[in-house]
Amino acid sequence: MRILFFLFVSAAALQAQTAELETYIEVRHGTLPIVLTVPHGGSLKPANVLARRYGVTGTDSNTIPLAEMIIEELESRYGARPHAIISRLSRTRLDPNRDLEEAAQGDPTAVAAWHRFHDSAQKACDTVMKKSGLGLLLDIHGHRHLEQRVELGYLVKADILKHSDAELNADTALIASTCIRDLDKRSPQTFAELLRGPQSLGGLLEFRGFRSLPSPTRPSPGFMAGYFSGVYDVAAHGSRSGGTVSAIQLECPWNNVRDTPENQRRFAVALADSLGIYFEVHFGRKLK
Ligand SMILES: [Zn+2]
Repeated sequence: MRILFFLFVSAAALQAQTAELETYIEVRHGTLPIVLTVPHGGSLKPANVLARRYGVTGTDSNTIPLAEMIIEELESRYGARPHAIISRLSRTRLDPNRDLEEAAQGDPTAVAAWHRFHDSAQKACDTVMKKSGLGLLLDIHGHRHLEQRVELGYLVKADILKHSDAELNADTALIASTCIRDLDKRSPQTFAELLRGPQSLGGLLEFRGFRSLPSPTRPSPGFMAGYFSGVYDVAAHGSRSGGTVSAIQLECPWNNVRDTPENQRRFAVALADSLGIYFEVHFGRKLK
């Protein structure tokens, strides 16, 4: 009898912990070959989760409503939703875009939330590979750099972006170390064109009114300009270490992208339109 009671209490505790984690890390299933991860938009600061003691803790404001509009605009164009993994925890409690140690700093709930974030992202990528053969993960962020451009991160550092197109295209070790390694093999365009040609994601967004980096107008960051080239999420889930889901870190500026619901919507429309073309040009298939 006592054992039964103990089992009952343990099961109830487990259920409560699962429900708690589902609140902290929201997982939405989709059928498009696209995965959205949103690691820094959350605001929850549960009393039972310790505050992180080091590392960056700033919120990427409005990236959750922005991601929700991107989901809606993709669905309205392509008739299906992307997968989405959204951290609702404040970055003062968890930073999913870091390795486990820096991300959770030993707090058991934050550790469990980190695992749920990355297990879910990997499961979504596996589903995409199984159903569609290939796909794209977009890791959605917000930056506060002075220059208000959309920054696209491929795990190519700012000083490497200063190299010529010919140098980039010849650097096979560099290409193999990026999160678009598989995409580069599939695309009929060169690696440099994938990064900053007219039909790169930056090029397609610029054509729709959103200044981007890298892009045809800004192939590499200007002198002293900030630029985020990608961190943990795109490295862990992109095609650098295998697989056919490539990843891009999408760093959105505040002005004209994240600042108002109207601008969020305009950007979501531009991104959804761009992704349709991107899939046709580089993956050789329609997005649906
Ligand atoms: Zn961020």
